[in-house]
Amino acid sequence: MTEWGVFSDEGCTDVFYSREEAEAQLEICKAEDDGRWADLYSVKEMCPDHEGQSKDDCEECWKE
Ligand SMILES: [Zn+2]
Repeated sequence: MTEWGVFSDEGCTDVFYSREEAEAQLEICKAEDDGRWADLYSVKEMCPDHEGQSKDDCEECWKE
């Protein structure tokens, strides 16, 4: 099952099992920051093999 993570500039902050839920949380994060750091937040597909890493730029996968 694909997991979707909400990422801030500090890494993954939340993980959800649906993209819709992750994007809803993304909007909450952006709103809490007054939109000032909104660009730092994003929703990414999670790496299926490594916790807390996004699929597209998983540090662990790059090492292998
Ligand atoms: Zn990985």
